[in-house]
Parts: sequence; structure tokens; C-alpha cells
Amino acid sequence: MSIATADSARDAETSGRVTPEVSPMLNQSITFGDPRLPARFWAKVRIGSVPVHRPDLGPCWVWTACCLPKGYGKFVANCKQYRAHRFSWELEYGPIPAGKWVLHRCDNPPCVRLSHLYAGTPKENAGDMVEAGNHQGARKTHCLHGHPFDEENTYYTPDGRRNCRACHRDRQQRRRQNEWLSGELESP
Ligand SMILES: [Zn+2]
Ligand SMILES: [Zn+2]
Repeated sequence: MSIATADSARDAETSGRVTPEVSPMLNQSITFGDPRLPARFWAKVRIGSVPVHRPDLGPCWVWTACCLPKGYGKFVANCKQYRAHRFSWELEYGPIPAGKWVLHRCDNPPCVRLSHLYAGTPKENAGDMVEAGNHQGARKTHCLHGHPFDEENTYYTPDGRRNCRACHRDRQQRRRQNEWLSGELESP
């Protein structure tokens, strides 16, 4: 009995210790509450939910304070206003390379978790969002006219939007018909 008591005492001691969250897959060099980021930064961050499309990422660290347009967190340091996610990224990797954005793998703008962030181009971001199904209309499986958004019937615009090939063909056909009709009307 006395041994069991000693064991449970030890267990209580162990569970009281803070075990950093570690995932072998991702860069975890900044753990939640990392002292390299100011305490007033962490005071505004809560552990959120796991992104549905990327459960491997683990939960988002969500900025709960004042948000900028599009849902980005705002953080002021050294008299300068930062987007909260850029602040945590720059702390780890230094200044963001010219022409690059700090983008969200989790597609969750207020998220500041470093392993959810990467530097990329806005175009990569558009592709990401289509993949994630967060882009406007990306969740639809069919176009307005009921044609399927499958591999065969879908083409992408340069900004990452999906378009229906069947509708595109219809539009071209109508345009040709209209041209033909107006040609008829104009002919003497
Ligand atoms: Zn996230
Ligand atoms: Zn269509």
C-alpha cells in the first residue's frame, strides 16, 4: 500500500510539469508560451481547434485580441503595428523576404502558430485556399448551371478560381449565335 501511495505521489509530481507539445513532422521550435515572445503577446493567444482539412497540423493558436481586416491579429511592438502572425514568424526566421507573404497552412487568418505559417507568394496562397475549400465557392461541387466541378470540367483562372468548361463553351456558343443574329439584322 505504501508503495502505491509513493507511486501516485510521483505521478502527481510528473503531471504537474509542463511538457512542451512536440510533433516530429513540423517545426515546433516556438512552443506555446515561448518566452522569446512577450508575455503580453501570449496573453492574447488561445489554443483553438484543429483545422479540418489539415488535422496533422494540430490546433491553431488563435489571436483573440483586436483584429485587422480579413481577421489578421494586430500586435504593437516597438511603436510599430504588426500582423500578429508576421510577428511570430519574424521572431523565428528574421525579416520576411521581399515579395513573400507569411501565409497560413491552416487557412485561419488569426492563427499565430509558427508551424502553421510559411513564407510564400500570394499565388501559392490562392492555390492553397482552393485546396482547403475556403476560397469563395470552392466548396461547391457543381457550377451554377449544375455542371460538375470535376477534373475534366474544371479550369483555374490565374488567381486560383475555378471555372466551368461546359458553361464556358455555352457562353462562346451564345456569343457566336448573337454575332450571327446581329449579322443577319445588319445585313441589307
Ligand atoms: Zn493555424
Ligand atoms: Zn457550368
